[in-house]
Amino acid sequence: MRIAVLAERAAGESRVAITPETAKKFIALGAEVAVEQGAGAGASISDEAYRDAGAEIAPAASVVAGADIVLGVQAPDVAMLSGAKPGAWVAATFDPFREKARVDDYAKAGLEALSMEFMPRITRAQSMDVLSSQSNLAGYKAVLTAANEYGRAFPMMMTAAGTVQAAKVFVMGVGVAGLQAIATAKRLGAQVSATDVRSATKEQIQSLGAKPVFVEEVAGIEGEGSGGYATEMSEEYQKAQAELVSSHIAKQDIVITTALIPGRPAPRLISDAQIASMKPGSVIFDLAVAQGGNVEGSSPDETVVKHGVKIIGFSNTATHLAADASALFARNLFNFLSAFWDSESGKPILDDEIGNAVRLTQGGKVVNERLT
Ligand code: NAD
Repeated sequence: MRIAVLAERAAGESRVAITPETAKKFIALGAEVAVEQGAGAGASISDEAYRDAGAEIAPAASVVAGADIVLGVQAPDVAMLSGAKPGAWVAATFDPFREKARVDDYAKAGLEALSMEFMPRITRAQSMDVLSSQSNLAGYKAVLTAANEYGRAFPMMMTAAGTVQAAKVFVMGVGVAGLQAIATAKRLGAQVSATDVRSATKEQIQSLGAKPVFVEEVAGIEGEGSGGYATEMSEEYQKAQAELVSSHIAKQDIVITTALIPGRPAPRLISDAQIASMKPGSVIFDLAVAQGGNVEGSSPDETVVKHGVKIIGFSNTATHLAADASALFARNLFNFLSAFWDSESGKPILDDEIGNAVRLTQGGKVVNERLT
């Protein structure tokens, strides 16, 4: 069983899909691990550290040669994988709804694409879920970045020269990233409020010491769809939400938006008119900027200034914390494969519940029901 890990080639991607810790654990299961030279550099992991863990360090082509499983943060181009065994598994993020051509390429190449974004939201898969581990770090980084761009302090400070007021932070979308954003803003001393379409989040917001801001007057709303994900809301709800947000947002200093709907563009939560109602010097961090954006006019990796308000968002937020993001991503991959490790055959055998959820391609075809 040969596990291969290439250096990430996507622009701006500093993470790596294996760490010395997980390499050692795979080797303890009986696997052979090969890592492309320099693959860990962006995450501050040296080739030496991988070697010490027992991994082979080599150029890309020899790493992939004869591989049974290839691990990636972002799925590599199929052209990189020509030396892998027929039917080799590739466990990585595939962005399957947007990168359909890549999924087709994997099918044509006879590879088995395992999309980590499609990990089901069930208790036993929590430790395998890269969306959660990376979103958590992203929520933290969003608040730190916004704080850095904000020309004022977060906590209230009483000084001999006068009082500095606490910043007002509003978090829109309270999933994994939003919860961490609330916790981080609280730790920095801000006054925090938050909103979501799923009513279950109200209690979570309160338990972190923040104030929930919710649309109450639209009858029968519940934005929770399958697997704990949000659904797209009715026009009536969207209108009520826009009104509520308009009055609240005008009083905020920092807004962090995190709302996503799987397989659809991110919902638009903040309009240009709402930005205009905010005080100059306020900051909005759009965590959904790469999925189309929650904020009108936001643009990936750019600071857009509108009406004196700075709008920021990274195309890849987790990569800005590459060392921790890699450590968690690599553990997610190890937890996934090791949970299914069959000691007799010395390789993982996926069960139907998780296998069918994450498998995109098999036997030359696209097989995932979310794509077919
Ligand atoms: P997400 O990244 O899909 O979306 C972020 C948040 O935006 C969600 O809370 C969503 O409800 C919210 N949102 C969507 N549209 C909105 C709108 N128009 N206005 C305001 N908010 C909007 O969510 P996520 O971080 O992946 O988490 C969603 C839920 O799934 C959470 O309850 C989380 O704890 C749960 N979860 C469970 C597991 C597991 O059990 N294995 C794993 C991950 C997440």
